Amino acid sequence: MIYKLFRFTHYYCKEIASENLERITMYSLKKMIRLKKLAGVFLFIFFCAFVAQAKYIQGFKHLINVNRAVQKKIVVQILDEYGSPTAARIRVSEQDSIYYTPVAHKVDLKLDEGGGDVILDYNRKFAYVDGGCEISLPPTDIRFEVIKGYAYHLFDSIIHISSGVDSIKIQLKKWFEFGAGEWYGGDCHVHFIDAVTALLEMKAEDLNVCNILTSDPTSDQDRFSGALDPVSDSVHLIYVNQEYREDRLGHLNLLNLKRLVTPVKTMREYQYPLNIKACDEVHEQGGHVSWAHFAAWPGLEGPLAVVLKKVDAVEMLSTIDPFCEPIFVSDVVPDLRMNTGLSLWYRLLNCGLKIPATAGTDKMTNMVTVGANRVYALVHGVFTYQSWIDALNTGRSFITNSPFLICRADNKMPGDEMNIGRKNSVKIVTEMWSQLPVDRLEIISNGKVIAEKIIEKGQHYAKLEIEYRPGKSVWIAARVHQYNQDDTRDGVSFTQRRDFGGGPTLLNKYYGTMRPETAFAHTNPIYITINKKPIRSKEDAAYFIKYLHNSISWLQRSGRFPSEQARQETVSAFKQGITEFMKLAK
Ligand SMILES: [Zn+2]
Repeated sequence: MIYKLFRFTHYYCKEIASENLERITMYSLKKMIRLKKLAGVFLFIFFCAFVAQAKYIQGFKHLINVNRAVQKKIVVQILDEYGSPTAARIRVSEQDSIYYTPVAHKVDLKLDEGGGDVILDYNRKFAYVDGGCEISLPPTDIRFEVIKGYAYHLFDSIIHISSGVDSIKIQLKKWFEFGAGEWYGGDCHVHFIDAVTALLEMKAEDLNVCNILTSDPTSDQDRFSGALDPVSDSVHLIYVNQEYREDRLGHLNLLNLKRLVTPVKTMREYQYPLNIKACDEVHEQGGHVSWAHFAAWPGLEGPLAVVLKKVDAVEMLSTIDPFCEPIFVSDVVPDLRMNTGLSLWYRLLNCGLKIPATAGTDKMTNMVTVGANRVYALVHGVFTYQSWIDALNTGRSFITNSPFLICRADNKMPGDEMNIGRKNSVKIVTEMWSQLPVDRLEIISNGKVIAEKIIEKGQHYAKLEIEYRPGKSVWIAARVHQYNQDDTRDGVSFTQRRDFGGGPTLLNKYYGTMRPETAFAHTNPIYITINKKPIRSKEDAAYFIKYLHNSISWLQRSGRFPSEQARQETVSAFKQGITEFMKLAK
């Protein structure tokens, strides 16, 4: 009974009234249940159900009225900055609760479908259109929201549909030009969509590369060809690649593959063979390996694969805010509470391991847009899939979910190395442009903030410039983000997935993503050595020695192996990793 009432309140508040009412209701209910105020809980549920029901009837009446009103077909055209028709994502709604589906688009779109249109924030539907659409609208005020990636202004306007209106032109404006012809953005981690769908969505999201990963839960293995998909054009490259998964060891994004790595369709039964074997197979065929969703899921084996130089990158922006703690390996990661996904990456860099970051959405449903997390790579020469992968391998890149970010040390870019004398200093300059609100731009040296700039509300551009004398060998990077405390107060739980009540942020409202995230970007490091001495940190090397010892304990205690020999082989690989970290501790 209580459960039914709870569901009833939840459903009507969410579907008919508003997201805010639903959030406030659920928050208050949980609080009262915690305080054991049961009478209050009952009263509250009845009250909310009553309000929601009233709203429902009101909404229902409104729908009937709207349907009775003469709807007319309107031609909507979407134009780019030059006035040419362009692909974009459009939401046409009335009072935010009534969504108008463009002609030929699916009306009963489901959250768990993989491609096509999207449903962000549970009820904010958007349609992908190429140049425009036809749509039947009533004669009233209609809200048009149009989005085309991060470099265009968000279009959000109320247009009155009067009897004289037959067509609407929406002119998008690019609010800045970002290194056109040099920087190319890609999503390293997409599932369940086909290449034709991906192409339209990429054009609409202003995304250049899409890696669709076939994997054990997908059924698209036959789409793998070991080459670019033929629907690709010169600035939109689609490549079907593979995610290789074992839940305890961790997952791998295998890109630029010529052949799939077995097993493809089944999740591995054992913690054997290790992922590093698959890494070798991929490198033999000229492929690229990144550790999938490393910040959320470094797995038992992530640090081992990095220290043995088996992976080319770690996917730092994917499925979790990088300031949060890893979530799937709490029994292995030492001092978890003090170690966010981001600090795990910093520790690896502090050991002198030059491991760049990449990004991807891990899109599996309609709740996320392609490229919501992406990596921009600086491509020298002609933009091809190979030249883009080469840029990822060298770390000439930055990861982002909306801000554009560049960093230079003297004339060096991320991924570059420079050697200076002990008394020398370098000039570090970082610049950022952000469509969504951010509030701090920072320069990081060996994981520590050495300079910061507070970004005022409404400010979309910032520059920070310092003269810095490192005194020892360091890595330097820039990051920009919005402190997520405001959202936490607003009932957003950054520790939970959004489908488990994590709540939406502004980023989620416009781009989706699996967990609550705020605007964030991070460049890859520039490596500065003093008299050619490598970057080292005893403390961080000791940290990973402990990590790998914990992994061995877990494998000895709970690991599944086909034979005793397989267990021995696995444990000795981890011991080799410990030896490598011990060398870095000197
Ligand atoms: Zn995965």
